[in-house]
Amino acid sequence: MFIDEAVIHVKAGNGGNGCHAYERQPFKPKGKPDGGDGGRGGHIYLMASPHIYTLQDMAYKQHYKTERGMHGKGSTKTGKNGKDITIAVPMGTVIYNDETGDIIADCIDEGKPVFMARGGRGGRGNKALVSPRNKNPETAEAGRPGEEKRLRLVLKVLADVGLVGRPNAGKSTFLSRISRARPKIADYPFTTIEPHLGIVPADKGHASFVVADIPGLIEGSHKGKGLGIRFLRHIERTRVLAVLIDSTSADPEAEAKILLNELAQYSAGLAERPQCLILTKSDLIPKENRSALPSGWLSMSAVTGDNVETVVRKLAKMVEETRGNK
Ligand code: GDP
Ligand code: MG
Repeated sequence: MFIDEAVIHVKAGNGGNGCHAYERQPFKPKGKPDGGDGGRGGHIYLMASPHIYTLQDMAYKQHYKTERGMHGKGSTKTGKNGKDITIAVPMGTVIYNDETGDIIADCIDEGKPVFMARGGRGGRGNKALVSPRNKNPETAEAGRPGEEKRLRLVLKVLADVGLVGRPNAGKSTFLSRISRARPKIADYPFTTIEPHLGIVPADKGHASFVVADIPGLIEGSHKGKGLGIRFLRHIERTRVLAVLIDSTSADPEAEAKILLNELAQYSAGLAERPQCLILTKSDLIPKENRSALPSGWLSMSAVTGDNVETVVRKLAKMVEETRGNK
């Protein structure tokens, strides 16, 4: 199962209590205050990891907490701080405060911890509370509670190229041809019910790039028809759109228009993304029956491999251009 949404609870550890104690010396009934401070509770961080692809772990384990700080002790001993923890999430996870709906963070940068919940401050011991006005404080502070939050994690896949097309257009076949990803391929709509990512290795003249196979779009997707909006959001953050249209379609240009309109309905920015228009399954149409390609289009067969390299090179070039513009 591809899980791209999860709600988790994070509770940072409480601070340890400050200590109320006095120096002990032979023949002195009560020495100076020497109670130590309590330790801080553990903080909680989230961090994007390139080795995790779904939010599955978070769907199973919803509660995260850190240790409390230890209490302070006599002889000015400070309590130990609670251990911090860092929760790994997939790259591209957007984190919302589930109570307010505010975005707290967008985990795009690999290996950069994002602060989520602060551990409680330790209470001061009676030694730390000594002041010119109060030479002998009769109390010590209690530790403060750690922060507690309910977070909604939403994964929005980060890929260079998003494959869009109607179900059966040949997206999964193309992805498995150009990368080591192995999405399910079959002759019926909606075999792909979850986005797949594949890495196209670097080749002569181009760097490697990431391609996302997004489940098929149909008319009305933006209103929730078919697999609907749930997967449209994964296209939102791709740099380049590869629009795949079946060669056997009666009117490829009209079909492409419908698809792009579908995307524009969902988000206006998407329609302006650089697009590469591609006719798939060229092997199904005998050479003599092929009509002229609409201008700007490419044609390929992912099954025979015909022209696939040209398409990959064009996509790589478009990706490089967007990277350059960043
Ligand atoms: P998706 O729904 O867009 O992911 O489409 P798939 O990749 O699952 O392909 C749908 C069907 O079209 C499968 O039966 C594939 O074998 C077939 N197909 C895909 N690409 C080609 C191609 O280049 N030539 C031919 N003849 N069939 C293809
Ligand atoms: Mg598919």
